[in-house]
Amino acid sequence: MTILIIAEHDNGSLRKSTLNTVAAAQQIGGDIHVAVMGSGVADVAQQAAAVAGVSKVLTFDDAALAQATSEAIAAQILSVAAAYSHILAPATSMGKSTLPRVAARLDVAQVSDIVKVESADTFVRPIYAGSLLATVQSMDAVKVITVRTTGFDAAAATGGSATIEPQTVQAVAHSARFVSSEMAKSDRPELTAASIVVSGGRGLGSAENFHILETLADKLGAALGASRAAVDAGYVANDLQVGQTGKIVAPQLYIAVGISGAIQHQAGMKDSKVIVAINKNPDEPIFQIADYGIVGDLFEVVPQLTAAL
Ligand code: FAD
Repeated sequence: MTILIIAEHDNGSLRKSTLNTVAAAQQIGGDIHVAVMGSGVADVAQQAAAVAGVSKVLTFDDAALAQATSEAIAAQILSVAAAYSHILAPATSMGKSTLPRVAARLDVAQVSDIVKVESADTFVRPIYAGSLLATVQSMDAVKVITVRTTGFDAAAATGGSATIEPQTVQAVAHSARFVSSEMAKSDRPELTAASIVVSGGRGLGSAENFHILETLADKLGAALGASRAAVDAGYVANDLQVGQTGKIVAPQLYIAVGISGAIQHQAGMKDSKVIVAINKNPDEPIFQIADYGIVGDLFEVVPQLTAAL
């Protein structure tokens, strides 16, 4: 068995999601190769080569891949796919957009969002917004898999000494091309990588009121998150949304403020190690999964908590 992992990076550094995906591959077993695609990715390739358990790094380095579309990434994967029993990517925007193209072209059924490896062909994945876990077996010759990063502790970033092999970059007929990107700038940690997340819901009442959570988050060195109701009401940008249709997080500490704890919100945060809920209504479902609950008015509790910190 040989496993190919599609690395996630920003052309300068390897993202932690790649390390979580390597951890899943280690549980499958076999040789682990990592494909690094981009422009000027020599540093990223070195970082990938140093990851424990990786035996080979394939680089696809070309200016045309600087802001690679899913079509372009899929074309590179397909050029080497025949050598692999498993093709894995993190279940991030990149993996979710790219691997279905690969699976379709290989005429196999993708296994999405796995949280556990039972064996080389059998995997556990959440269904119905995480209410149930399905154990699925793939009979396909090539297993195309996206990995829920919160399901696997990151592989060690050091300790490996893989070989690095440059590959021929495939030209892509452009049905889509990169035009521009707008990056939200923030000094706070990235939501999916943060060890503490402070999330606010409709209970905050307005965008201005959300500032009290920013003060708390900054005291804790935490990322900010939000419920969909808070995003839909325009309190914060939609890249902060946690949940079934937002981001999946599993930090050491998740503080839910003015969030009722609807099943779709829980789908994105219930695997957090410690959950703290601040809500004025003790009957809300968030208290059923909270390790610590504070029943009270958030506009009194949050400033007190911030001051105490
Ligand atoms: P509410 O449910 O309105 O809760 C507000 C809470 O604030 C209440 O518990 C209230 O007691 C409390 N509160 C009010 N004032 C105060 C105060 N002064 N002090 C303390 N507490 C106070 N939701 C997500 O979050 N993420 C998703 O990804 C997501 N995806 C969805 C996908 C689908 C297909 C569907 C149908 C829904 C989805 N939802 C998602 C929406 C979800 O069902 C809920 O509507 C949403 O999570 C509710 O957000 P909320 O808890 O902020 O608001």
